[in-house]
Amino acid sequence: MYAEVENVEALSPDLVRVVLAGGTLDQFEASDATDAYINARFLPVDSPVSVPFEPADLDGLPAEQRPRARRYTIRSWNPETRRLAIDFVVHGDTGYAGSWAKRARPGDRLQFEGPGGSYRPSADADWHLLVGDESAFGAIGASLESLAPGSRAEVLALTERPGQEIAFPSAADVNVQWLYREGAEQPENVLVESVANTPFPDGRFDVFVHGEAGEVRAIRRHLMDDRGIEPVATSISAYWRRHQSDDDWRKVKRQFMSV
Ligand SMILES: Cc1cc2nc3c(=O)[nH]c(=O)nc-3n(C[C@H](O)[C@H](O)[C@H](O)COP(=O)(O)OP(=O)(O)OC[C@H]3O[C@@H](n4cnc5c(N)ncnc54)[C@H](O)[C@@H]3O)c2cc1C
Repeated sequence: MYAEVENVEALSPDLVRVVLAGGTLDQFEASDATDAYINARFLPVDSPVSVPFEPADLDGLPAEQRPRARRYTIRSWNPETRRLAIDFVVHGDTGYAGSWAKRARPGDRLQFEGPGGSYRPSADADWHLLVGDESAFGAIGASLESLAPGSRAEVLALTERPGQEIAFPSAADVNVQWLYREGAEQPENVLVESVANTPFPDGRFDVFVHGEAGEVRAIRRHLMDDRGIEPVATSISAYWRRHQSDDDWRKVKRQFMSV
């Protein structure tokens, strides 16, 4: 399916909210998951193909002109207006998806499949632990928005520097710890060290940790090995890998995350 960019809003210097509408969105079927994602196809700038395209349109195209598959979380879906919002990290001019979002203008088209997704804050949990960098803010935001009044969440959110915080509206009792790479001796350790220094409230909880692969793996090890926790439910996975394109990262992801 495909949709058109209706609106682009800079949430921070590194994060852009793209609202999609029209196209074939009238056929979109939402998921219950708060980490629901689409598998989008980003065309290299010099590709002769345009959206919407069929598999046959790609026949004979050289590799460098073929669309690249990238997964992006649905920050929100409005079934009445049929608008779909995605929060994209813009991380320079490398890659395809982030730079597409940086250039996106109303009328641009995006082709995608989905949604997939599996996490939703557990109704059996007394509180929820949500940890991530900017790539996970869409899922964290959607999760917090789904919580009922009286529920409780502890959030550790990593961004570049002070001033880049975003709003996480929620009816729940939410404590957000904002963390920054800038100024840290080892920016890649900021999240795991902060999780390690966070006292956990009593009661049953579930865990959602997503972001850069090395950081996510370190947090998973800490939670399992050092704290011996037994969460009600766990969703821990890497959304991206430093210094690797998503195409290369997917080839080694299973092995990397298994150790
Ligand atoms: C299920 C799922 C949901 C996701 N949801 C979101 C989402 O809602 N928003 C979002 O922004 N991302 C999300 N991601 C991550 C996103 O798919 C990857 O970041 C992807 O690699 C971006 O593709 P690209 O073409 O821009 O860069 P690539 O071509 O994959 O990579 C080019 C370079 O950019 C670097 N890079 C990639 N991502 C980042 C980043 N976030 N910060 C800094 N450098 C980076 C790479 O290490 C590489 O060096 C999600 C991933 C998964 C698996």
